[in-house]
Amino acid sequence: MYYLCFDCGKRVEYEQTKVKVRCPYCGGKILYKDRRTVMKIKAR
Ligand SMILES: [Zn+2]
Repeated sequence: MYYLCFDCGKRVEYEQTKVKVRCPYCGGKILYKDRRTVMKIKAR
């Protein structure tokens, strides 16, 4: 399980967010879950 950084788009391991809720790469505080299953876009 991991989150995605809103700023740089890199994967942030969930374990890392327990220690610090911010991106270890760019320091961004906005992280979101990668919910691909929910994003059902009509791609035809
Ligand atoms: Zn980042």
